[in-house]
Amino acid sequence: MMRPGTLNLQITFFSERTVVLILFLIMGTILGTLEGCCPITRGEIEVLHSPLTQPLEIHILDVGYGESIVIVSPDRHFLLWDGGYPERAEMVRAYLCSLGVHELDVVVNSHPHPDHIGGLSAILEAFRVKQAWGSHNLDYREIPIEFRRVIENRKIPYKEIRRGFTWSWGPEIELHFLNPVELVPDLNDSSLVCQIRFGQLSLLLNADIGPRVQQELVGQYQTSLRSNFCTIAHHGGWAYLPYYEWVGASFMTLSVGQNPWRNPRAETISFIESLPGLLLRTDVSGTIVLRGFADGRLVLVSTGPKSAEASGPAHSR
Ligand SMILES: [Zn+2]
Repeated sequence: MMRPGTLNLQITFFSERTVVLILFLIMGTILGTLEGCCPITRGEIEVLHSPLTQPLEIHILDVGYGESIVIVSPDRHFLLWDGGYPERAEMVRAYLCSLGVHELDVVVNSHPHPDHIGGLSAILEAFRVKQAWGSHNLDYREIPIEFRRVIENRKIPYKEIRRGFTWSWGPEIELHFLNPVELVPDLNDSSLVCQIRFGQLSLLLNADIGPRVQQELVGQYQTSLRSNFCTIAHHGGWAYLPYYEWVGASFMTLSVGQNPWRNPRAETISFIESLPGLLLRTDVSGTIVLRGFADGRLVLVSTGPKSAEASGPAHSR
């Protein structure tokens, strides 16, 4: 039990001004807990400081017939998906430099056709590359010797990817690979297919898969295929058209240029254009840049200018 003398001592210990300040702080705390009394709530502060408010970027490079895509994470890390024909390597290199790239977190080769793998050897030489992924092992006969040599010389970790492989790219982005289950004689159908998830946003990269794989993916994944963005597979070639209905993308891009294979097919394009999403083509718009937000929004940043057409491909696609 406290004696009266002790209480008097404690009261005189605080000055009058200090007591007023403490009372003010207590009142402020009580008022702060009442709904609607604060200009910024705790939730808003978290959103303002969350890295999720920063978008990722998708750059669909105009490499003529072929494919090359750069994904830039919100904290400015870089992933390169294919590099077009060898003749386009310099354009891809210069584009990466213009983005300020010194290092690539991952270089992905969707499949070893020259309109996808051709430009990658020079890119692997030009930049620091943390790791490289592909559909086939480095001894496969269609992997260019320069590609294998630069991976080995620079000791770049290389991984063959199959369905089910997932990878966390920083704290916010996840990559999920849906194809291939196993390699098949048709290189196009052995293509990697990757779904990139960033909050509510989903991007589906289809490389060159054909109708057989598209139908199988619908059977396997159904509504999980749904994505805000997708690439049109195999330069708009023959397709299992319901695939694009299942994906239901609001933005679709087609990487294509002059070619002897009559891609894109008129049937595929007219079906895609009948869907609610917007289709943009590199042969019409040039390089396409989109910004994607974690709440699922996609914004078209820029298109073009259209680059000169690559000299016609003389080899297989
Ligand atoms: Zn191709």
